[in-house]
Amino acid sequence: MSEQFDVIIVGGGPAGLAAGLYASRMDLRSVLVDRGPLGGQLLNTELIEDYPGIDSILGQELAVKMGDHARRFGLDIREFEPVSEVDAESDVRVVRLESGHELRAPAVILAAGGLPRKLGVPGEAEFAGRGVSYCAVCDGAFFKNEVLAVVGGGDAALEEGDFLTRYASKVHIIHRRDQFRAQPILQDRARANKKIDFVMDAQVREIVGNGKTNAVKYESRGELMELPVGGVFIFVGFIPNSRVLKVHADHDAEGYLVTDPEMRTSVPGIWAVGDVRAQLTKQIATAVGDGTTAAVSASAYVSSLRDKVRASA
Ligand code: NAP
Repeated sequence: MSEQFDVIIVGGGPAGLAAGLYASRMDLRSVLVDRGPLGGQLLNTELIEDYPGIDSILGQELAVKMGDHARRFGLDIREFEPVSEVDAESDVRVVRLESGHELRAPAVILAAGGLPRKLGVPGEAEFAGRGVSYCAVCDGAFFKNEVLAVVGGGDAALEEGDFLTRYASKVHIIHRRDQFRAQPILQDRARANKKIDFVMDAQVREIVGNGKTNAVKYESRGELMELPVGGVFIFVGFIPNSRVLKVHADHDAEGYLVTDPEMRTSVPGIWAVGDVRAQLTKQIATAVGDGTTAAVSASAYVSSLRDKVRASA
């Protein structure tokens, strides 16, 4: 079965929800699909303190607010509706769902985000869900009074490392270089936290255990060390979900979609916003800006197609 819309939004994080809000306000027949519950990366963030105008809000709470807000303007939101592929057929863009259902529209806004990058070391897959995690908010509470390792040196590693000290007795942040990539404010916070210890210039080589994680092995200055831990939280970046596009769209070396200033990809009728798009930073504020721009641009595109149809009638 297939349904027709003006705009289809794939992904229900801040970028997709902002796009949906604006598209609906502009009276476009708009639908948003997400493979899970609404929120995207908001759901992996405990507290948000850097969204202008809001001192502090739970990620989950902001997700609900953004969803309710978009729904009030008429956005048709479909959660737990995984997309198998996004395709382009002449003037029509097609979003195929795993359910077999098909959504068709002249415009698709891809806000599909991405997934955590894996470290790729022995033991990582074996102990996933048994001490190895990629989400502190989801799994932190299972590690009360345990010693943990956090791998990575970006914003996520430092922020989530700090968060995990609510539960853990000690958190070792293991980073492959001697300098962090994370914002200074997150570094300062982690340095001020007495439960955090830093292991720099260290490459994780293996995660070991016996039924469940009990140590991490890393190499530092030519020496192989073993650190006993009850869990390993991995924050080494992100892989964009751009592969869902069946047609070729320009992307960078890491698979992030390249857009113009209106968030248009190289495929007419397909926009890319938020974490799936190549850009300097991944912030809620920038995601919301991307979504807004794409919705306005897509609205102009849909109107121009309608004008063409009227002119040729
Ligand atoms: P990221 O900024 O890409 O940092 C990834 C970290 O993992 C880097 O320190 C990198 O080391 C390290 N790494 C990568 N591959 C590795 C490997 N194979 N082995 C060991 N270490 C490895 O990723 P992120 O921290 O997940 O953040 C993703 C985006 O979300 C960023 O744009 C970030 O600003 C944003 N974010 C923002 C906030 C916030 O504003 N509060 C919170 C979370 C995330 P090198 O430094 O040596 O490359």
